[in-house]
Amino acid sequence: MLKVEHIGIAVKDLAQSNQLFAKLFGQEAYKLENVVSEGVQTSFFKIGDTKIELLEATHAESPIAKFIEKRGEGIHHLAFEVADIQAEMQRLQKEGFTLLHTTPKEGADNKLICFLHPKGTNGVLIELCQEKK
Ligand code: ZN
Repeated sequence: MLKVEHIGIAVKDLAQSNQLFAKLFGQEAYKLENVVSEGVQTSFFKIGDTKIELLEATHAESPIAKFIEKRGEGIHHLAFEVADIQAEMQRLQKEGFTLLHTTPKEGADNKLICFLHPKGTNGVLIELCQEKK
């Protein structure tokens, strides 16, 4: 893995949280994006080399809606940039980690992504992401 690419935070009201985090960081979100495949509306802030991704559910079946129902708002996942997502998925599967999907999915911010099951990573939801070429 190359670096922490972003930290995902689950929020109930993206518009309100955009204002809150803009105040906190002293800058506006640089991107808003609707990710249909994940059922989320997202925004991104850039802090140095790392990004903060805010996620709001767009429907009740969205993983973010379920997360907030169970655990409330807060840190949802850590995303690590990888050079070759297919190779990294194979490597981690061999190491015994459980992947949430068998092929990379389309993520926000021009990325291919894959999540690892948090049961195998001390309760932390890990996202792998690779810039689409
Ligand atoms: Zn993410």
